[in-house]
Amino acid sequence: MKAHHLNCGTMRPFGGRLVTGEGSYLRAAELVCHVLLLETDDGLVLVDTGLGLGDVRRPDETLMRRWRLMSRPVLDEAETAVRRVEALGFAASDVTDVVLTHLDLDHGGGLRDFPNARVHLSAEELAAATRPGRTGNDRVRYPDGQWRHGPRWAPHEATGDEWFGFSGVREVRPDVLLVPLFGHTLGHTGVAVRLGDRWLLHAGDSFFFRGELDPRPHCPPALTYMQGRMEAVRELRLANQDRLRELVREHGDSVDVVNAHDPVLLRRHA
Ligand SMILES: [Zn+2]
Repeated sequence: MKAHHLNCGTMRPFGGRLVTGEGSYLRAAELVCHVLLLETDDGLVLVDTGLGLGDVRRPDETLMRRWRLMSRPVLDEAETAVRRVEALGFAASDVTDVVLTHLDLDHGGGLRDFPNARVHLSAEELAAATRPGRTGNDRVRYPDGQWRHGPRWAPHEATGDEWFGFSGVREVRPDVLLVPLFGHTLGHTGVAVRLGDRWLLHAGDSFFFRGELDPRPHCPPALTYMQGRMEAVRELRLANQDRLRELVREHGDSVDVVNAHDPVLLRRHA
């Protein structure tokens, strides 16, 4: 299996150093939507989808104003997953499966561009995103316009195997695992991929800044604020960050960990 690391949605929030941890306070910061494209023996698999064509062309329909003001997405069609897939010489229809860390708008935006793909995610996340009468944060984070076309949902219960001390892990495709990391949302997961003799864990939004996995964790204040504001269950989110630090400490020789929005982690692998 081969993995491509793609940025499927640049964001330029204000705050400079308060977001990036370095440089000027006055410059806009840079965040990415880190998406994996996996070449497998039978088809392509996307891990997360970033923003899609519909979001870029008609942002008013799916990207709520409150989120756009905070995140300031660049909205470049060339960055969407479908255009990235095509730029690599593939067709959108070659993508047979999508595996989602969660259904936040900046992760599920591309679903409409791959309408025939199976969409794997935790059953808990699908229930949280689609329950009727959503209010507050949930209305902003889960715009149902991104999946009104009726994706081929493949929800997975968090009961399954162990993986480096994480439990409830499900294999959704050969060598592609859904690893429950609940907290940022009610059903947030990581996605672990076996690449030769190493594992790559896409930890989604379970942490926002690479320094959070250091032995002495640190995070720029604006990202700490954003994580707190968007968290569904604080205790679970913080406990999972502890477990991720332990994973890096104990198994860093066999597992690489990336997240969704840190541009430095993306560049390290791209
Ligand atoms: Zn996100």
